[in-house]
This record gives sequence, C-alpha cells and structure tokens, in this order.
Amino acid sequence: MTNPADKYEIVMGLETHVRIKSNTKMFCSCANALELASEPNINVCPVCMGFPGMLPTVSAGVIDLAVRASHALRSTVAETSVFDRKSYFYPDLPMGYQITQLYEPIADGGEVRALIDWELRTFRIHHMHIENDAGKLVHAGWKTLVDYNRAGSPLMEIVTQPDFRSKADVLGYLEELQKLMRWCGASDADMEKWQLRCDVNISIRIKWETELRNRVELKNVNGFASIGRAIDVEFARQIEIYEAGGSIDQETRGWSDERGVSTPMRSKEDAMDYRYFPDPDLPPLTLTPEFITTREIGDLPMDRRLKYLNEYKLIEDDARILSEDLIISNFYEELVSITKDPKKSCSYITTILFALFEAHVTRLNLSDIKSETREIARVIELVNADELSSTNSKIVIEKLVFEWWKADEWVDSLSLRQTNDTGALEAIADAVIAESQTQLAEYKNWKVNLFGFFVGQCMKKSAGQGNPKIFTEILKKKLS
Ligand SMILES: [Zn+2]
Repeated sequence: MTNPADKYEIVMGLETHVRIKSNTKMFCSCANALELASEPNINVCPVCMGFPGMLPTVSAGVIDLAVRASHALRSTVAETSVFDRKSYFYPDLPMGYQITQLYEPIADGGEVRALIDWELRTFRIHHMHIENDAGKLVHAGWKTLVDYNRAGSPLMEIVTQPDFRSKADVLGYLEELQKLMRWCGASDADMEKWQLRCDVNISIRIKWETELRNRVELKNVNGFASIGRAIDVEFARQIEIYEAGGSIDQETRGWSDERGVSTPMRSKEDAMDYRYFPDPDLPPLTLTPEFITTREIGDLPMDRRLKYLNEYKLIEDDARILSEDLIISNFYEELVSITKDPKKSCSYITTILFALFEAHVTRLNLSDIKSETREIARVIELVNADELSSTNSKIVIEKLVFEWWKADEWVDSLSLRQTNDTGALEAIADAVIAESQTQLAEYKNWKVNLFGFFVGQCMKKSAGQGNPKIFTEILKKKLS
C-alpha cells in the first residue's frame, strides 16, 4: 500500500518577527534593554504607556538598523514608507493599537539563500515592515500581571513568498536569516530570548497541482526543534482531513509544544477587523537615497561560504565556520589577502588560534589578540618560507596573542629562525658524523632506525635552528 503522505506536497510561507537591537524603543527614548531590565515596568514613559496626548517620534537608531537589515535581505528600501495603526484591545497593548506598516512597508522584495542538502536554494522575501512590540502578560494564579518593559520595542516582520517545500527548507532559511541579522548588526536573533520568532503558514496539495489550497497559520512556534515538530504534525493533520474527504478551513492555530498539538485560535469568519489606517501622529518616513546607500551590506555570509568552498577549496565545516560570523570572516579575509594561502590561513584560525582561545581561563576571541592581524599573517609567511618550523610557529602565535609585538621580533628573540643555509648545515652534519663513529658503524650495519639519531644530533648542534628537512636531505646523501 502506498503511503498517503507520498501523494501530497507541503507548501509553506513564513512570517518572522525579529527584534531590532537598537538602544532605545521605537517611538520614545526608553531603553530597549529587555534582558537587562532588573524588574518589571522600569523602562517605561508616557509615550510607550499610551498616555493621552503623547506624541511618538521615530528613533533614528531603529531606522538605521532596519535599513541595514533590508540590505542584508537584498530588499529594495522604500524612500517613503508609512506607519499604520492596527487597532485591537489587549491589556498588554496600552495604546489600544499597534503601530505597524501595512500599505507601504519600509522594504520590498528580496531573498535569502540557504544550502539545503548541499543544494543552493533561494527563498524570496515578499516584504519587510517595522512595528512596535506589545508588553508581556505574566499569569500568576488567579491574577495576571503586565510588564510594559517590552511595550514599544522595535520589531521587523519579514514575510516570505510560499517557497518552502520541506521542514529542511524552513530550518535552513531560519538559520541563514539568523546569520544575516547578526552579520548586519540589526539583531542578535536569539530564539531562546524571543528575539526571533516565527509564524508558519502551511497548506498542502496533491503533487501535480499548481493552485494553492487553504492555508493554516501556526502561531507562536518558537525554537528550531519545535518548528520542525509543528510542521510534521500539521502536515499529517491536513493529510488525514483530505484523505477522509474533508476540507481545510483558512484559520489561525496556536501550537502547544508541551502537548505536541495545535488548536484553533480564530477562523476566517471571525478574523479580527483591525481597522488599519495611517497613523495621524506620525508623518510618512522619508529616507534620502544617501541614507539608504551608505548602509548597504557588501558580501553576505553565503557569498563568503561559497567562495571558500568553490575557490579556496576548504572543507564544508571550515567554510561554514569562517563565514558565519563577521569578525571571524573579516579576520580570515585579511589573513588570506596577505598570505595568499587560504588553506593554511584557515588552519591557523580553526586549529591553532581556536584551540588557544579555548584553553585559556576566560574564553577569548579574535578581538582579544593584542598584535596586529598582519603579524599573524607574517607567521604563516615565515612557515611557508621555511624560516620557522610549524611546531615553533605555535609558540610565536601564542606570544602575539597575549602581547603586542612583531612576529619577526619574537622569532629572533626566541632564536627560532630556521637556518636554510645548506653550506652551514652541511658543516654541522659533517661534525656530527665525525663525533658519532660508534653510531655510524651501527647504522652502516643496517640499523636504519638510527637515522633519526643523526637528525636529532644535527638539530641539537644547530641550537634548534637548522631546517630539519634540509638536514634530512644532507644526511641521506652522506650516510648512503
Ligand atoms: Zn517609553
């Protein structure tokens, strides 16, 4: 018997809320510091509390980050966008309406690329708009408490086209979106702190169908694992209904992760009438072309990752690690631009530096390195020029991490510079052989394992500065 699931295809679109990492709230000068607020209702003022007669003013810091995020999404930033009121009553919404953008959002179109099972996929963005957040309700027994620290915090809502066909698509997109938001500095996009949360629109259809069927909006799905679970459960639920001859209502359902089920919140019939209209307290937001272009974002994490994979031939793990964080990636780019050695530059970061950082009492990162990046690059150049052994290079790297100085100065002051002068090394080898007649006789008597003894003696005599590769070559000839 065939599995009914094979007959159907899942079609999904996402609406993702990302909290903007600005210093202030969206329309007042209250601190936008949710994690740092020591107690409820301390970051509030008459504007975000919705007192009568108070006028909101748009925070420039919020717009700055929203424009950067739009560029990271490769969206077109609107020179003029408009704020609308979305009216509804809820105790955590002190104004009685939310300020959002329905008709003329700040950014239009765009895309996010993700590698899904080794295939590069592009997910289209429909638009992005900005809006303020509501407060937080805390249910305590029979009472409900309200904390307005979050009321008026800025959010971006990023709405996609229905381009997702699997759970892997959705999770791959969200991971990439998270990287993009961190890369452009607009948000830390930490799901556990509710800085990135997601509503999933799900419909299914028979695989050969081209029209979309009714969709269900799953609300409040949070965290990668629960998004995956919610999609599986909803896919199975819709198949079961169609297979039993039923139909799907266009509705909104709430996902409960503890119970692993979704329950209806509201249907199309009782959809709320939000009475959207342009906010008369806020003039249209007008941005100059210069404001928009000076916030453009160059390379994105995916551009770098593909370059590291295809041009630099790095392995997948290294390409991913070196492309997901802006500081790490820029550090790597600078090393490669000096050393012209992508592979060695990679291994000096991922093995030597990262191991050093991890071994330190307080975990370090690249911005803790005391010396300049070009000095780290110089170490790689010295190794490539055979002037420093790779074993000794670790000693120099450690010195450069903890003290500001130059690579060459450390190499010389620690007497680590390797001698490549064949004539001088040959003289040392001759002296070692002359002093080791017993070992020479044993060696000639087929004790090949004594070869290492001669190399060791040569290294010792050269105070560790002879190039072991050259000694090996010399000794091979002299002892043969
Ligand atoms: Zn305020």
